[in-house]
Amino acid sequence: LPSRIHEVMDRHVEATPDHIALIDDRTRLTYRELDRTVGRVAEALQALGIRGGDRIMIVSENSIPLACLLLAASRLDAWAIVVNPRLSPRELDQIRDHSGARRVLLTAEVSQEAANHADRYEATVQDVGPLRGIAVTGLNLATVAEPIEADGANQVAVLIYTSGTTGTPKGVMLTHRNLLFSARGTAAFRNMTAADVQYCVLPISHIVGISLLTMTLMVGATVRLVAKYDPAALVKAMAQEGVTILNGVPATYQRLLEYRRTAGLPKLDRGRLRLIAVAGAPLDPELKSRVEQELGLPLLNGYGITECSPGISGVRPDSPKADHTVGTVMPGLEAKLVGRDGKAVADGEVGELHVRGPNVMRGYYRAPDLTARAIDPEGWFNTGDLARFENGAMYIVGRTKEMIIRSGFNVYPAEIEAVLSTHDAVVQCAVVGRAVEGNEEVIAFVQLIKGSTATAQDLMAHVAPQLTSYKRPSEIILMDALPATSTGKLLKHKLAESLRSPH
Ligand code: ATP
Repeated sequence: LPSRIHEVMDRHVEATPDHIALIDDRTRLTYRELDRTVGRVAEALQALGIRGGDRIMIVSENSIPLACLLLAASRLDAWAIVVNPRLSPRELDQIRDHSGARRVLLTAEVSQEAANHADRYEATVQDVGPLRGIAVTGLNLATVAEPIEADGANQVAVLIYTSGTTGTPKGVMLTHRNLLFSARGTAAFRNMTAADVQYCVLPISHIVGISLLTMTLMVGATVRLVAKYDPAALVKAMAQEGVTILNGVPATYQRLLEYRRTAGLPKLDRGRLRLIAVAGAPLDPELKSRVEQELGLPLLNGYGITECSPGISGVRPDSPKADHTVGTVMPGLEAKLVGRDGKAVADGEVGELHVRGPNVMRGYYRAPDLTARAIDPEGWFNTGDLARFENGAMYIVGRTKEMIIRSGFNVYPAEIEAVLSTHDAVVQCAVVGRAVEGNEEVIAFVQLIKGSTATAQDLMAHVAPQLTSYKRPSEIILMDALPATSTGKLLKHKLAESLRSPH
């Protein structure tokens, strides 16, 4: 069995060397070619002074060079920090400085954003083994390599700075064992085989992208790496490239349907598509049923978190038509719900979800206090999410830190958002709390379909009959666009902050 992520392809390099492993917007590599390329990139990185225990930062959109750099880092026992070029200069510098990266490598040829950062860093454009046009910064001599683990599986494979929808970026250390356990579990869950073609549009700078890449190479299948999401390109790939699996965040599907409508396509041709999955944010039931109608497949919801590499639960392809459940807990994990008194809650009741298993991160880099707060001495990781179980199926109710307490009643933003979303004019919405003397108000931010004339009063009239009084928004604020991360996750903390600062 492979103990490090680059080893997952070894079996297939021998058995099916000519099978296509990776396709990106420019080219493709067979398993044999991938293996050779990764070997030569690893040598080139060594020549650039990268050693085991070094952190290397890779600034790139999904592409073959990115995948090769990531797998080459694994060969060298270096820690890869994959960063989305769409981050701002400030965010990039923060990650570089916090991680103490030995070098920053930027795929300047893949995206303009990466090229801009490369200019700012005065990085030199060069070949890294067979990879052309990689911008490389100078060697950081002030940094110290981390110790190398005797057991390679315990080595940190990736350091992921979470998108920080709650405010503070944290460097999540995931070991090879963490990633392999999670990828193996998800691949099995989805009955993946070498015949699959995985459409990887979720960024590899995010744990879901890393997991998709690893699980696909593990089964000897093909990954279609997509640098930037474009629904028109997805529609084409479904019809022409034999894509069998599509993973997205809710916004991926939202935009696909929006494109179908505006482009006036009568119907989406799903081609060989056999499985569609969604994760990363609450799934609006309306959106779920519309996607299922359009694509003729169940939209499988999955729940995870960066700190758990990421899979915690998922709906199985063979499960009877599911509602808004996030499915059953992945085999090999333990889960428990804890009430506010610190005791386990009864079945059917809401509690804070704690999990334990081989997928739980080593900790937050250079933040032992944060780590101790997240993982207790028995190894239980507190997800900060509120959940409940019903006949073994899990439901995510909200996040502990986002729960609004209105006149002593718990209000879960996800519930209000689901009701608002049933209005035809609502594209997306986010509900946050606003502190007012001794109480909290429910405030909704809403983005409407372009050209809609609906007003806040119309929306209020729509939701009021569906919600008990303490759940009704005190105010509905219309916005042209809601602030979101590059994976489409709404930045609720920004909205909450906007309520705190005087207008
Ligand atoms: P931070 O940890 O700083 O808040 P983040 O929210 O982007 O950043 P991620 O690890 O990317 O962190 O996201 C994990 C969170 O996303 C979960 O804790 C949960 O709240 C939410 N989430 C993920 N999948 C689902 C899902 N299927 N349904 C509802 N919520 C989900």
